[in-house]
Amino acid sequence: AEQERIFVERQPGSASRAARAGAVLAGGVTSSWQITRPQPVWLSHGAGSKIYDVDGGEYVDLHGGYGAGLAGHAHPAIVEAVQRQVARGTHFAQPTDDAIAVAEHLAGRFGLPLWRFCNSGTEATMDAVHLMRAFTGRDLIVKVEGCYHGHHDSVQVSVTPDVGDVGPADRPNQVPASTGIPAAIRDLTLVVGFNDLDAVARLLEEHRGQVAGMILEPIMMNAGIIPPVDGYLAGLGDLLHAHGALLTFDEVKTGLTVGPGGATARFGVRPDLVTLAKSIGGGLCCGAVGGSAEVMGFVAEGGYDMVGTFNGNPLTMAAIRAVMEHVSTPDAYDRIATLHHRIETHLDDSLRRHGLVGKPVVAGAKGCVTFLDRPVRDYRDFLEVDDRYNHAHWLFQHNGGVFLPPWGKTEQWLLSVQHDDADVDRFLANFDRFAAAVGG
Ligand code: PLP
Repeated sequence: AEQERIFVERQPGSASRAARAGAVLAGGVTSSWQITRPQPVWLSHGAGSKIYDVDGGEYVDLHGGYGAGLAGHAHPAIVEAVQRQVARGTHFAQPTDDAIAVAEHLAGRFGLPLWRFCNSGTEATMDAVHLMRAFTGRDLIVKVEGCYHGHHDSVQVSVTPDVGDVGPADRPNQVPASTGIPAAIRDLTLVVGFNDLDAVARLLEEHRGQVAGMILEPIMMNAGIIPPVDGYLAGLGDLLHAHGALLTFDEVKTGLTVGPGGATARFGVRPDLVTLAKSIGGGLCCGAVGGSAEVMGFVAEGGYDMVGTFNGNPLTMAAIRAVMEHVSTPDAYDRIATLHHRIETHLDDSLRRHGLVGKPVVAGAKGCVTFLDRPVRDYRDFLEVDDRYNHAHWLFQHNGGVFLPPWGKTEQWLLSVQHDDADVDRFLANFDRFAAAVGG
């Protein structure tokens, strides 16, 4: 309560805007996940690793725009590329040279030869699901309980914690994750636990010849951070292919945040399709689908029309090219790994010193603290994570000048290529204050 009072007192400008916004923006925000408690925060600008609210407050930005902030703010290479392109035209609905360069970069990094672009993670996974169905001529898809793939019908199933009767762990129920999704579409999405190959094998047997493919986050990142166990991703590929079904890695969140070639290169498992968005765009709206010669070749032959007025938008292409050539560099990954090593070591120690049960988990530039006494292997473990501390942690960080994603149980922080030791110092000092206040 004390931290919430401080929060509100520091931000009169946000409070007055929240009141005005409520009259014209539904719920006072532009996306339901922009709601923060005790009130929404209005930002004025960002620079480097920092963002600034309308009351002049400065924050180390570890929210990272829900994972789209790998470049940090106003990165010189992005500014230069976008300014150059904006003066030469913002939209043509025809491909540009940058689109070829970007596809060449992605093909090299992800080991998948053919690419198309779209405008969000949701569009990318929607196209991937359509394409798996079109290519195989089958309707059913398999998804993992707790994975989020955007807000289109086929994947809005069994996503968020505590949404309803989740059923037995080895045979999860298909739980609608949003209103407005017809039951007939939900029923086409079969659900399995993460890291459970047997469940996939069983579903493929039970629905022989009917499963188009499976979509999953290769590292789960909408349930904290849950890595795949050894052999899981490769095993999925083998199983699905043996049944004539396809594998899609949704790398919208992982992507360049976990390495130059995403989780795909990191684990050395080549799926049929990869979806990308947030991590590649330098903060611009973007999406991409890459795939094998066979499956994306089907698109090339007109087997599936992957379309969109703004696909391959020149501004977006210029920004992604700048990310590929100047942001997502070997040096940047080394710097981020060093900062994360500091964070992990310090947090482990702070949790122990203050008698709190929890574990920092990092993957590349992404990190979170999971308040549980054991590693989280799947969504069922994740449901047992103690959620009492996340909001308090968020408030302590916010009031201490660090902006984290507000949904602390599910979301991760993101280090950008512009964060430095001083930013990490501020984060760690706030964490210690939080741990001292709530710890035993
Ligand atoms: N896929 C994953 C793994 C995501 O985390 C998200 C968004 O959080 C999406 C897809 C949807 O992306 P967007 O919000 O750009 O539509």
